[in-house]
Amino acid sequence: TTPTTVRPLAVITGASSGIGAATARTLSALGHPLLLLARRVERIEALGLPDTLARSVDVTDAKGMAAALAEAEALYGPVDLIVNNAGVMLLGEVARQPADEWERMFDVNVRGLLNGIRVVLPGMIERGRGTVINVSSVAGRRTYANHTVYSGSKFAVHGISESLREEVAGNGVRVVTIAPGAVETELLSHTTDEAVKADYQAFKDSIEVLAPEDVATAIGYAYQQPQRVTVRELVLAATAQA
Ligand code: NDP
Repeated sequence: TTPTTVRPLAVITGASSGIGAATARTLSALGHPLLLLARRVERIEALGLPDTLARSVDVTDAKGMAAALAEAEALYGPVDLIVNNAGVMLLGEVARQPADEWERMFDVNVRGLLNGIRVVLPGMIERGRGTVINVSSVAGRRTYANHTVYSGSKFAVHGISESLREEVAGNGVRVVTIAPGAVETELLSHTTDEAVKADYQAFKDSIEVLAPEDVATAIGYAYQQPQRVTVRELVLAATAQA
């Protein structure tokens, strides 16, 4: 009989659509058991992936994340990778945007990402091994009109991610920041400012944007490097995106 390699547990937040769902397919095809988190658990279950625990967890709920991780580790062993991917983009002008939209972006994109880091990091440090992949954006490296608060939240992701990499470099834990340009997903659909949304949609329609699988491939590439290699930051955008 052919010996099978048992691959370690990977956790993906925001796995119910877009980049998270594509990353789940990619890591599953590589043989990893998965813990997949998002609020719409039925969308995760519809992916139909083997060796997968799907849990409806809001990333702002640190206790819910810890409980789901404990359940997954009992089934599949210690977590070796988390992809902190859950995010919201509510574009708009600061002078007009409802404050609860700012709060949501910082809650999910920043606090939720920190919850993901915090839930896996102590175990990874103890084992001297692990990978944290944080999904930021090109809007975490440069600014765009009507992206003020989103961009602020993604600059925070870049800062947290880079700083964390330095903090745990001596512990054998790799930290990777992924910064995609425009990707064809549900992300824009949650923006409530119709004029801003139409503008961005027109931009997306004017070029061939990335597919979620393109970002999933980049995530798989970074993770599959030998342990001595950390891909610190990976920026990828549509060729036609200026
Ligand atoms: P989607 O809207 O398709 O996916 C977002 C995912 O995040 C969904 O699975 C959603 O699940 C989840 N999510 C949102 N809020 C929460 C929450 N409170 N708790 C748990 N999960 C949550 O967009 P993308 O795939 O594009 O977005 C993924 C990441 O990629 C985001 O961080 C985004 O900022 C980033 N990105 C996207 C780009 C793009 O152009 N699409 C460009 C650059 C970066 P559910 O609603 O079921 O909870």
